[in-house]
Amino acid sequence: MEELLADAGEMADAPSNIFSMFNNADIKFPEIKDENGEEVQITHGRYIRLLESTDRRVRQEAFQGFYAAYRSFKNTLAASFSSNVKQEVFFAKARKYPSTLAMALDGGNIPVEVYTNLIAAVHDHMDLMYRYVELRKKLLGIKELHMYDLYTPLVTDVHMEVPFEEAKKIVAKGLEPLGEEYHGILEEGFHNRWIDVYENENKRSGAYSWGAYGTHPYVLLNYNNTLDNVFTLAHEMGHAIHSYYSDHVQPYIYAGYKIFVAEVASTCNEALLIDYMLKNTEDKKEKAYLINHFLDKFKGTLFRQTMFAEFEMITHRMVEEGESLTAENLCKIYHDLNVLYFGKNVIIDPEIDMEWARIPHFYTAFYVYQYATGYSAAIALSRRILKEGKPAVEDYVHFLSGGSSDYPIELLKGAGVDMSTKEPVNQALSLFSELLDQMESILE
Ligand SMILES: [Zn+2]
Repeated sequence: MEELLADAGEMADAPSNIFSMFNNADIKFPEIKDENGEEVQITHGRYIRLLESTDRRVRQEAFQGFYAAYRSFKNTLAASFSSNVKQEVFFAKARKYPSTLAMALDGGNIPVEVYTNLIAAVHDHMDLMYRYVELRKKLLGIKELHMYDLYTPLVTDVHMEVPFEEAKKIVAKGLEPLGEEYHGILEEGFHNRWIDVYENENKRSGAYSWGAYGTHPYVLLNYNNTLDNVFTLAHEMGHAIHSYYSDHVQPYIYAGYKIFVAEVASTCNEALLIDYMLKNTEDKKEKAYLINHFLDKFKGTLFRQTMFAEFEMITHRMVEEGESLTAENLCKIYHDLNVLYFGKNVIIDPEIDMEWARIPHFYTAFYVYQYATGYSAAIALSRRILKEGKPAVEDYVHFLSGGSSDYPIELLKGAGVDMSTKEPVNQALSLFSELLDQMESILE
């Protein structure tokens, strides 16, 4: 049986391969005029930047042009999406899983409730998202909020120059609640050249933490003196120190941590840092900038990824129940989800109905929910650390030291966060609510 399933493996990869050829090589997007009136071709790389434009015409044309390209292949894309779901169903049946969802979660021994509770908890708090879009509409000063108005920054960059030396001090201060030992490791990293700090010729962009068992972690940054970069430093040091603890405590085989918990340590650091910075900033504009930074993360990580997760759950269930997926019903399901997640005060432009067709992660089924659960766990942990201090920190360090020595849910339970309940998601959303309150009061 396993031999036959293995032989079917390459065929089963076909939908994903076809989509990736289409999406990376064949699809062509139209040209639009940018802010300066110059012709610019939409590409995957440019799309988000165009959508963030402060010129509404630019983001509208980018949005329309981008989705028009996908729409002209809607039946092809529906066929490849649907075939991918079918191959999942085939393997789930062959291995006697009750569903494709159960199969996907089994690898990390994640109970299905973790997935369904996430969706249910977000549903319970949809009013918060509606409040956020109201605020966005007000701040942008527009009568109608369209789907192409969701990414343009609400608070224009606070031009605060933060030299790297200063950033290290701010991060160290912000992470003080994690105790002396953590602080010591942070300083060790700062003083022993763990970090490649500045942009350089032929250096890759972005930021990440990497390393090998038996050495200290390394961090790559492209530090550019912005406030955003300060958060990146806290984020990457979160990954680095997670690896540091796990490598020190675990044998090689259990040292690497799983995707489900990978973003917890990094996000927890960001949450601690923003708490510190908000408490130590009087400047209203800077405060608004900081809060906005976090509100956008909530929108993009907790709400958006949960909406994706729900789309995956609905479409897989349909195929499991013998229904077929067509361009029409995929667009309808996606449209209805957008109505639910953004509410009646946003114009759900018809172009967005095609968004499902361009998400590469949908070809790794039931993956993206981990962004939302990881985020929630991190926020819940940061609240506990701020509230309870020492005992919470001890549990947290134990979690950081756990690597993959236990299942992710168990490791998190040890740190005081039970992802099989709605509680951590509720806690994260209550922070979202607090930040909305603060933002509304600053702007009054
Ligand atoms: Zn990260």
